[in-house]
Amino acid sequence: MHISLESIIFSHDNTSLHFVEFRLVGLCFKLTLTSLNECLTGNVSPVIRFNVPSTSGNEHTYVEQAMRSGYLASGGPFSTRCSQLLQEAHECAGVLMTTSCTDALELTALLLDIAPGDTVIVPSFTFTSTALAFARQGANLRFADIERRTMGIDVESVAALLDDSVRAVVCVHYAGIPCDVDGLRDLLAEFPKVVLIEDNAHGLFGEHKGQKLGTFGRFSTLSFHETKNFQCGEGGALLIRSEDDTERAQVLVDKGTNRKAFLLGNVDKYSWRDTGSSFGISDLQAAFLYAQLERATEIQAARANLTAMYRERLEPVAPELNLSLPSVPDSCRSAHHMFYVLTTTQAVRDNLISECKGRGVNMAFHYVPLHSSEAGRRFSDTDQDCPVSTDVSARLVRLPFYTSMRSQDVEHVVQVMTEVIRTS
Ligand SMILES: *Cc1c(COP(=O)(O)O)cnc(C)c1O
Repeated sequence: MHISLESIIFSHDNTSLHFVEFRLVGLCFKLTLTSLNECLTGNVSPVIRFNVPSTSGNEHTYVEQAMRSGYLASGGPFSTRCSQLLQEAHECAGVLMTTSCTDALELTALLLDIAPGDTVIVPSFTFTSTALAFARQGANLRFADIERRTMGIDVESVAALLDDSVRAVVCVHYAGIPCDVDGLRDLLAEFPKVVLIEDNAHGLFGEHKGQKLGTFGRFSTLSFHETKNFQCGEGGALLIRSEDDTERAQVLVDKGTNRKAFLLGNVDKYSWRDTGSSFGISDLQAAFLYAQLERATEIQAARANLTAMYRERLEPVAPELNLSLPSVPDSCRSAHHMFYVLTTTQAVRDNLISECKGRGVNMAFHYVPLHSSEAGRRFSDTDQDCPVSTDVSARLVRLPFYTSMRSQDVEHVVQVMTEVIRTS
C-alpha cells in the first residue's frame, strides 16, 4: 500500500522543536518532542504518578447493572451489598454507606448531639475533616500531638487535654498503621463519658492484635475517595457498634425520616422524626465500589506486596541515605494505605520532592498540622504546641503508591530517589 504525504509541519521557536505534524490523505499525526525523542532513541523514561485511582475490572458491569435495575438513589441493592460486606468483615451492629468520610464524620457529630460547650480532641496531624465535622457543630477543638512510632495520636498528649467538657476523642490510623489503641482504651476507661471515634480513612482491613481497625470506637468512618485503597471517586461509610445508635443513624442518614423502618414494613407511613441530612451514597457509585470491595483480598495483597518491595529495596540503603522508614508495632497488621519515609530536614525533603518530580517521579508531602492552621486556631480554646506533628510534617514524604503499581515502578522510584539523595 502506498500513502502519500500531504504535508509535514515542524513547529519550533528559535531554540527548540515543539512537535512535528504529518498529514497523510486526510489523516493527521502529531508527535511531541518527547515522543519523537522516544521513537528515535527507544529510550522511554517512565513518569510515575503519585496515585492512580484503582479499578478492579468489574466496575463497568456493575454500574451498567445498576443503570438497568432502575435503582440509582441511596439505599439501593449495591449499597446494601457494600454495607453487608463491611458489616460482616467488622462484626458491627450497622454500616451506613455515605457520600464521603467527611459526611460519615458529620453524621457522627449529629448522632452524639455535639453542640457549643462540648470539646472534641483530635490529632493535629490529620486531614481537616477529622476536625471540621465537629467544629461545624459548634464544638471546641483541642489538638493532641502524635507519637513518632505510629504517627497516631499520643495518649499522654490526650491525657493532658481531658476535662469535663470533653465529649469525644478521634483517632486516625495513619498510613493504615494502627495507633496506640491499647493506650487509648486504658486511658478512656477512666473517662466513661468520653466517646472514642476512629477516623479509619486509612485503615480499612488493618488489624491490631487480631482485631480489625474500625471496631474499637463507638463509631468509625471510612473513605472511598479516589486516593484511598478502595474507591468510587467520592464515597464513605459509617460503622456503628451498637443497635441503638444504628437505629437513630438510619433516620439521620435519610433526611431525618424513618423511611428505612417504612421500607422494612415496620411502620405504615414515614415522616420527619429527627435531625439529619442527605448522607446516603448513590447506587451508581455503590456499584462501582462493590466491584472493588468484593476483591478486597486481592487488592490488599497487591498493596502488601508493594510495601514489602519498598522495604526490601530501601532498608539496605536507608542508613546511607539518612532516611527513616515506617515501622508497624508488634501484633499489628497495616492496611497498606501508603508508604512514607522521613528525611533529616525539611530542606532535604523539599529538594527530594522537586528533584524527583523533574525526573518524572511524583512524591507528596502530607498534612500541615491543624493546631497551627488558621481555622484550627479559630476553633480551639487553647494555644497548643504539638512539636512532633510540626517536626514530622516538615520531614515526611509519601512515595508513589497505588494498587496497579508494578514492581519495575517501585524499582524505578527507589533508583531515582537514591540517585537524587546521593548527588544532592
Ligand atoms: C481522606 C480522608 C478523609 C476524608 O475523606 P473523604 O471521603 O474525602 O471525605 C478524612 N480523614 C482522613 C484521615 C483522610 O485521609
